[in-house]
Amino acid sequence: MQGGRDTGLRAAREVIAAAAPGERIAVIGAGIAGLSAARFLKDAGFEVVLVEARDRIGGRIDTVSDKNWPFPIELGPSFVSHSGTTSLDEEFTRLGIATAPFPSASETRTDAGTVVAVPDTGQKAVATALAWATQQASDMSVQSALDGSGASKLSTTDAGGGVSEADWLAFRVATVLDIDAGASVDHQSGWYTSADAGADDERIVLGGYAGLLTKAAEGIDLLDSSVVTKLAYRDTGVSLRLGTGESLSADRVIVTVPLGVLKSGVLEFDPALPFAHRGAIADLGMGTLDKVWLQFDEPFWSTAAPLWTTVGGDEDFRVWINMMPLTGEPVLVGLVAGDTALRLAGADDATVLAAALRGLTPFYVPPTPTPTPTPAA
Ligand SMILES: Cc1cc2nc3c(=O)[nH]c(=O)nc-3n(C[C@H](O)[C@H](O)[C@H](O)COP(=O)(O)OP(=O)(O)OC[C@H]3O[C@@H](n4cnc5c(N)ncnc54)[C@H](O)[C@@H]3O)c2cc1C
Repeated sequence: MQGGRDTGLRAAREVIAAAAPGERIAVIGAGIAGLSAARFLKDAGFEVVLVEARDRIGGRIDTVSDKNWPFPIELGPSFVSHSGTTSLDEEFTRLGIATAPFPSASETRTDAGTVVAVPDTGQKAVATALAWATQQASDMSVQSALDGSGASKLSTTDAGGGVSEADWLAFRVATVLDIDAGASVDHQSGWYTSADAGADDERIVLGGYAGLLTKAAEGIDLLDSSVVTKLAYRDTGVSLRLGTGESLSADRVIVTVPLGVLKSGVLEFDPALPFAHRGAIADLGMGTLDKVWLQFDEPFWSTAAPLWTTVGGDEDFRVWINMMPLTGEPVLVGLVAGDTALRLAGADDATVLAAALRGLTPFYVPPTPTPTPTPAA
């Protein structure tokens, strides 16, 4: 989110540096990047038209407020971290949207439900592999770096609590690398992946990420349900063709559609984008991260840890957010990424639910039986 906001603002500043006062600027895409650019340009006195394919703003920000749920559900982003450049976290405070600190350390359980301390085995193996990769002549996947460096050759015998060294590497990969990138390690770069876990200053947004959007969109001319299918750009200005057959002209344009849209070619550029842009679009990949929200009548768990992970076993869901200590409600959020997420995306709800519940088994605490009174002799 910080990155989306930063790039939107950077593009807006570049436009301001090149444009004459009062020019008409089209912004394509009303996600955080497009909205940030549009807001900045509007506040700087430009005429702005924001063109959005969907019938709502926000893009991947997708907050659902539903009477069946006790608080807003985030189908897209939930977390915000502090950045020296944009301070999105402070924006939530300014807007009165509740956030709470979120720990990076999880409670980790084995398949059998035993709570275990996480050793640095997995982290060290990944760090060794990435250091080795930087010494190689060309980039490679993290998986190739793990194998090529020998860092993945770990013992499969029980190193304590029924968990082997190899299990701890698989744990690191599944709960940190896959989730951070939304991609499996055979798709992550050995040169550009970080060996560290995410920032330790993350906050979880409880009051609805979408609260950011209303203020950002205030007073901006929005053309929603309008897919841009062609963008013709000349020295004299730009012309946008919409899926409805209508067209729109502006002096300049900022394009914030996702990489996946650029890769699909549904948006035609005339002339074609410069060679380097096309090369980057072709080479980069999109990650996949999916969430499953589950609401229970009663908690079946006894831990107050907000973040849960599991080690060993072959569950699809190994990372869980426990909303109970944050909201008082028995709601859990399961995260899946990369190849697992892509496989489950094609499954029906019952299959996904079964996979999610299997991942929760280590946290299940059977109810204590009520003692039956002994009849008096
Ligand atoms: C499940 C999930 C969880 C995430 N969690 C976090 C998190 O906790 N913290 C975090 O910082 N980030 C998180 N992210 C990432 C974050 O959501 C994205 O990086 C960010 O929202 C991207 O914003 P954007 O404006 O670049 O793109 P988008 O939000 O995708 O906006 C692009 C917009 O362009 C529109 N568009 C596309 N094609 C066209 C077209 N042809 N014509 C007109 N409009 C078009 C789309 O409809 C969309 O509204 C998460 C993402 C997902 C999916």
